[in-house]
Amino acid sequence: MKDDLGAILRRYGVLRTGHFLLTSGLHSDRYFEKFRILEQPRLCELFARLIADHYRPAGATIVCGPTTGGAIIAYEVARQLDTRCIIAEKSETGRKIGRGFVITPADQILVVDDVLTTGGSIRDTIAALQATGAGIVGIGVFINRSHGVSLPYPLFSAYSEPLSTYEPQQCPLCHAGLPLEIPGRSDKIEQI
Ligand SMILES: [Zn+2]
Repeated sequence: MKDDLGAILRRYGVLRTGHFLLTSGLHSDRYFEKFRILEQPRLCELFARLIADHYRPAGATIVCGPTTGGAIIAYEVARQLDTRCIIAEKSETGRKIGRGFVITPADQILVVDDVLTTGGSIRDTIAALQATGAGIVGIGVFINRSHGVSLPYPLFSAYSEPLSTYEPQQCPLCHAGLPLEIPGRSDKIEQI
């Protein structure tokens, strides 16, 4: 199944190969274009099913995801689990649960997101949820591209592929003279 999902991710341009500048400032030979999966409802349904099936026995009453990608995924996972869907929006200190969403201490929440890199948005979402006193059953992500990050609850990844990253000075792709691409920009920039 892992190979099948990898082939799907490549076919739809979600998983790209090349020479990329990551937001961390590091370089990598692969990049996940998460909106190439989020724009395909059928693909979202497929990946969400893996998360929903994994966590169905946990009996979540709410699925929560951080904006923007996590909110789309939360909606689809909640649809499959027949639970409510809420979103965690950015705040000045991290994430907040607004929009009049009601969460009680009796609720059991499944936290979802698109791509796990450092886990920052997931941790901020969990912090906002913990303030409500509700229980958290676990975390589900479509794509785990980390080499392992510390999270306070069990993690399930529909697809996992750790990315190699390089400091610019040690990047073999730079040394090979490959043009560097900034994801989200169509042009490629020359190495200085
Ligand atoms: Zn490089």
